[in-house]
Amino acid sequence: MKRREFITIALPILPTTAFLVSSCQPKSASQSETTDPCKDFSTVSENDLKTRKKLGYVDASPRAESQCGNCNLWLPPKDGKACGGCMLFKGPVQTAGYCTYWAPQSK
Ligand code: SF4
Repeated sequence: MKRREFITIALPILPTTAFLVSSCQPKSASQSETTDPCKDFSTVSENDLKTRKKLGYVDASPRAESQCGNCNLWLPPKDGKACGGCMLFKGPVQTAGYCTYWAPQSK
């Protein structure tokens, strides 16, 4: 293929190709989850993210009777926030979440 032919063919499709490639780039956790405040980890440290993972935290408890909302380590939402927290790590925690450290609330 001659240089002139290549330029004639390639130039019109380069912007489209660049757009498609940039659209396929993975978004960071803070970019892709910012619409849900309970999934915004932009202010959470790597250590807290590791702790959350190490404890097996999930957003939806596999055990209906054991959820973050009735755990002794649960920190209820405050100041109009949409989600709560946990005493073991920083960052948003779902009321219906769960981890291996779940403990019944003391009465
Ligand atoms: S210890 Fe686990 S189950 Fe209890 S509030 Fe924290 S994340 Fe939820």
